Amino acid sequence: MARYTGPKCRYCRAEKTKLFLKGERCHTGKCPLAKKSTGLPGKDPRARSKKPTDYGLQLREKQKLKRMYCMLEKQFKLTFNEASRTPGKTGENLIMLLERRLDNVVFRLHFANSRNQAAQLVNHGHILVNDKRVGIPSYRLKPGDVVSVGLHGQKMLIIKENLKEYTKNGLAPWLSLDPDSMKGTFLAVPRRADVAETKDINEQLVVELYSR
Ligand code: SF4
Repeated sequence: MARYTGPKCRYCRAEKTKLFLKGERCHTGKCPLAKKSTGLPGKDPRARSKKPTDYGLQLREKQKLKRMYCMLEKQFKLTFNEASRTPGKTGENLIMLLERRLDNVVFRLHFANSRNQAAQLVNHGHILVNDKRVGIPSYRLKPGDVVSVGLHGQKMLIIKENLKEYTKNGLAPWLSLDPDSMKGTFLAVPRRADVAETKDINEQLVVELYSR
C-alpha cells in the first residue's frame, strides 16, 4: 500500500497542530511546533494569512485527520464512505473505523513509535492477529482480537525500545498489554470522547466536505 514518506513535520506545520507523526520526538522540545512560530512550510513566518473560506476550513480538517492516521486520499475516502453507510453519526463512525485499523493498534500498543513505523512492521510480517500473521495495515480489528509480535520481531531492538514508552505513557483504556510476551488485546471499540488525540478535530467539517 502506497504511503507518504516525505518530511513529516511539514504536515504539522501546514495544519498548525501536532499530528504526532514522529514518535517520542513529538513529545519533546525538539518538535518544531514547540518552538516559536515557524509559519507555513515554504512561506515567510511573518507573512499574513488570508481568512480561510468554509471549503478551506473543511479541507484542513480532513487533511489533519487523514495525515494523523497516515493515510492517502483514496483509502481515506473509502473509509469515509463506509462510515457514512454505518448507522450513527458519520464523523464519529469514521474515527472509530480509523481506530480499529491494525497499524493504529500496533502503534497504540507501543510496538511502534509512529503509525508509519507500525504499518512497516505489519507489512514486513512481524505482527500476528489471534496467532496468525496479518500483513495488511488497514486490517480491521474487532473486540477480543489479540495482537502480538512474531518470534522474529520479538528479537528486534526497535520494538523493545518502543515498549519502554508503555511504562512512561501508559495505554489507551480500550487496550490491554502484556509487554513481556509482546501481546495485547483490542478490548473494545473506543467512544469518540475517549480518543484524546483527535479532540481538537471537528469531524463534522470532514462530513460537510465530502457531502459537497
Ligand atoms: Fe514533527 Fe512530531 Fe512535532 Fe509533528 S508533532 S511537528 S511530526 S515532531
